[in-house]
Amino acid sequence: MKHAIMTHAHIDHIGMAPWLTNHGTTLHGTDLTAAVSEIMWADTYKVSDIEGYPLAWDKRDMEAALDSWVPHQFNTWFNVGDWKCRLHPAGHIPGAAMIEIRTPEATILWTGDIDTRDSPNAPKAIPVDCDILCLEGTYGGRTHPNRAEEEERFVARVLEVVSRGGLALVPAFASGRGQDILRILHREAPGLDVHYDGMGTRVTREWLGCPEFIQDSRAMEAAYRWSRRVTGKSDRKKALGADVIVTTSGMLDGGPALWYLNRLRHDGSNAILLTGYQAEGSGGRRLLERGALPIFGKQTRVPLEIDKFDLSNHADHPSLCKFASDCAPSHVVLFHADETAANALAEDIGQETKVHIPSNDDTLDIVGF
Ligand SMILES: [Zn+2]
Repeated sequence: MKHAIMTHAHIDHIGMAPWLTNHGTTLHGTDLTAAVSEIMWADTYKVSDIEGYPLAWDKRDMEAALDSWVPHQFNTWFNVGDWKCRLHPAGHIPGAAMIEIRTPEATILWTGDIDTRDSPNAPKAIPVDCDILCLEGTYGGRTHPNRAEEEERFVARVLEVVSRGGLALVPAFASGRGQDILRILHREAPGLDVHYDGMGTRVTREWLGCPEFIQDSRAMEAAYRWSRRVTGKSDRKKALGADVIVTTSGMLDGGPALWYLNRLRHDGSNAILLTGYQAEGSGGRRLLERGALPIFGKQTRVPLEIDKFDLSNHADHPSLCKFASDCAPSHVVLFHADETAANALAEDIGQETKVHIPSNDDTLDIVGF
């Protein structure tokens, strides 16, 4: 494969890129995606090394991958063979792109992960006219609560925990959610003592180096400077006296969150506020289902209050259907969706348009419009 266009720097989208570039592939994406990819790959490499699971690429491939990026601005055409391509903002996280591809036969829009609502940091995705829409379907069949109300509920819960003398531990993904949480807390409750730990601090520095991708980047910078960044062991101990700790990992599978949880679990006034999806088998899911999770290899009971908030950066079912309709394609190809989600979307979108739900290794032949 000569070229690969990367939509954004979440690891489920760029994880195999160093393997591709090892085979001579050029990577295309936004500047910010390229910058954050380095942190994501390095972390993946580190974790695979510690946990002893094999990767399809090594450190040298990773370094070569960093040299394989060709960055592109939004809304600027570039050629890939006889295709003309351009990137559009996808919402989701800063720097995330949808890819518009004009081939001699058809115009294709590949959404990557999208959000059609503004989030604190990323401006929303706008529909693009196309013949074939390749649409993510993570939230097919599900509807988000009102975003502003959910943010309010989150802040109210934090204040409640703090006012009873507790600390709110907020596990959050490094790239997107953590920074959203900082923005929300800085805006709504600037009197709080908020500490920020984990890989997100490095990701945020990359964000601030590419302010053109951030919605009101000054507010992000202010929120980042307002938070107390944890950089070492003594900072981590100090953070135990904070009002709020925002840290990775978002699903309690590792990272500083577990170190904190192991200490915070002894005081019932503390609480855990989950801010994202907890995958099957993740620490966060086990905690929700059984009140216990593995901490440093040991099954540990955590008798703290746990609350869940839907601060997702994906479009939900009604928004995906509207987006598809507004792009006015002849064909929709669903990806990034489990079976239930894909079927729910196919049922609605299929009223207007031909819908395809391919499996891995399927070839789609789409002819005639
Ligand atoms: Zn993503």
